[in-house]
Amino acid sequence: MPVSEDAISAFRASFGGQVIIPGHPGYDEARSVWNGDIDRRPAAIVRPGTPAQVADAITFARAEGLELAVRGGGHSYAGHGVNDGGLMINLGTMNTVNVDPETRRARCGPGTTWEQLDGATQQYGLAVTGGFISHTGVAGLTLGGGIGWLTGRAGLTCDSLVSAEVVTAEGRIVSASAQSNPDLFWALRGGGGNFGIVTTFEFALHQVPPMANVAIFFWSTEHGRDGLRFSRDLGATLPDDMGYLIAGLSAPPAPFVPPEYQGQPGFALIVVNWGSAEDHEKALEAVQQMAPAPQWQLITPIPYVQLQHMFDDAAPWGAYSYEKALYLDDLSDEAIDVLVEHLPRRASPLSFVPIFPLTGAFSRVADGDTAFGGSRQGKWVLNISASCPTPELLPQEREWVRTFWTAMRAKAPGSGTYVNFLADADEDRIRASYGAQKYDRLAQVKADWDPYNVFHRNANIRPAQLAPPAAG
Ligand SMILES: Cc1cc2nc3c(=O)[nH]c(=O)nc-3n(C[C@H](O)[C@H](O)[C@H](O)COP(=O)(O)OP(=O)(O)OC[C@H]3O[C@@H](n4cnc5c(N)ncnc54)[C@H](O)[C@@H]3O)c2cc1C
Repeated sequence: MPVSEDAISAFRASFGGQVIIPGHPGYDEARSVWNGDIDRRPAAIVRPGTPAQVADAITFARAEGLELAVRGGGHSYAGHGVNDGGLMINLGTMNTVNVDPETRRARCGPGTTWEQLDGATQQYGLAVTGGFISHTGVAGLTLGGGIGWLTGRAGLTCDSLVSAEVVTAEGRIVSASAQSNPDLFWALRGGGGNFGIVTTFEFALHQVPPMANVAIFFWSTEHGRDGLRFSRDLGATLPDDMGYLIAGLSAPPAPFVPPEYQGQPGFALIVVNWGSAEDHEKALEAVQQMAPAPQWQLITPIPYVQLQHMFDDAAPWGAYSYEKALYLDDLSDEAIDVLVEHLPRRASPLSFVPIFPLTGAFSRVADGDTAFGGSRQGKWVLNISASCPTPELLPQEREWVRTFWTAMRAKAPGSGTYVNFLADADEDRIRASYGAQKYDRLAQVKADWDPYNVFHRNANIRPAQLAPPAAG
């Protein structure tokens, strides 16, 4: 039954934060999420400013039978952060960041973006593994794992989480860390937004010099097979503390790309190094002997915060998007053949296929230490991402993603996926990603902390035991 206007008015009068209903001038902005394909209309949107207000919003939603949607940075491809006819908790204004350079810790609110956190930590030459696009939210990215340039050096983002403040489905405010509610803390590091609303993230920071050296090598689709094989083999020789990424994409309209190649599809190897420029060039010497030579290349120093913005234009806010991903143990020659065959078939120049290596510090964490969905011995996560400037292109591009993914899946049957790259809610894929043992443990933690599955707009973990109907 739809919530009554009286109920919302009464809540609004008592709630300390902002309550926004349809017709309010800020309604469309407050319900917007990154994926332009998502156009949902909650019955009401709240913008809490404190954990107690988050608790009040949860209590109100449950009392009125309203479905809850929790939005951190709004970057879930599936649009989990917004719903139709329910209560949306938009955490965007809870974005305070505090950095303590002495203890090398940062605390931030759940509405913080990577631009804000990186900006604050880099003032002290510190950082935690952040996403590749600066406007992505810290909250969702951390709770599902967190992959970035620093993965080989510092592991996943969730590996650096030291504690969290959490508002539970019952509206209690609790802390989670190795000492306090350790099962909840374990589940928060990879289990997504299933267990409560995190209102503070506390991270251990790593020394990351403000200047890095970046290199981009780009091969046309014609020479893609050679470029990809070379990139895979070179990547395996790089030290853990250098970051790298392989991607199928369009050459950007940037001044460092010769005009005749701008917008052309191809494959890139991007390498980041925090050592000296000489070390950087030495590690990449082999590229200069490689035939066919890259179509174009760029080798330059770059501030780390600028590096974190480098791909922002490739993933603009409001693009009509869809994705499917999978883990690969091996970027085999056969998998490369699939990439070379399918990339040129995309219809939108914005669609891209990043292939993230999972090595170094990532693999030094034991599988059971966190709830992360994926093996710590896995080597790659490959994401086929459709991104369209207009809605008309999306149906065709969605088919491109599915066909491409099915061909790639044949090279890695049974593999799971990174839950943060899961646009379709598919319980089998979620189970496959966590594996039976981890999924069962997560389901038990879910039963302890959210037995009625209040927080279900996510890569959902079903509570181990079905809870009896809620009273009232
Ligand atoms: C352009 C783009 C670039 C990306 N790049 C990367 C990348 O480099 N590395 C990477 O690992 N991933 C990346 N991702 C995937 C990203 O990690 C997920 O989309 C993630 O869910 C985004 O978090 P968010 O807070 O922005 O999203 P939201 O849509 O706000 O939230 C995502 C999920 O988390 C839940 N949630 C949000 N805040 C909270 C909270 N405070 N407490 C509890 N639950 C909460 C939501 O309910 C939802 O289920 C990218 C995604 C996009 C769209």
